[in-house]
Amino acid sequence: MPENLCPPSFPSLPQPCPDNLAYALTLPAAAATPAIAREATETILDVHDLDDLIEPALILVSELTACACHFTRPGDTVHLDLRHHENRLRVTVFDAHPRHESCDRLRHAALPLTRKVTESHRGAWGISATEHPCTGTRTFATLMNVRRHWTPGAFPSGTR
Ligand SMILES: [Zn+2]
Repeated sequence: MPENLCPPSFPSLPQPCPDNLAYALTLPAAAATPAIAREATETILDVHDLDDLIEPALILVSELTACACHFTRPGDTVHLDLRHHENRLRVTVFDAHPRHESCDRLRHAALPLTRKVTESHRGAWGISATEHPCTGTRTFATLMNVRRHWTPGAFPSGTR
């Protein structure tokens, strides 16, 4: 057994920055959950210096968690996963309802802003069946930090 295994001795913990944003939250399927998820997401993005993404991210978190709660039995849990890497934020929500074609139509109808926000931020979104962290359905949406990718000359002259 290595000598210094216990107690563990790590160098100082890393400071939050955009590329070490990785959080997974387990939340109850409840009426207040979208609001709680929004508050948590706002804090996380603020602390990780991603203020530019707060507004679109909160729309995604709000819609995706509300939809997940709608498809989950009260008292069961939904899962929210937030990751940011290379200028792209990924919001993933898991619920316990198995994926069905008929329910996919209801999910699409329940996520009108998700489609708009991902399109306007060069992102993508989708739905798939999942086994982890729960057997059910996974809905994800991604966002690019569009403002950081602006370069002079990207717009035709005379449009600014
Ligand atoms: Zn169903």
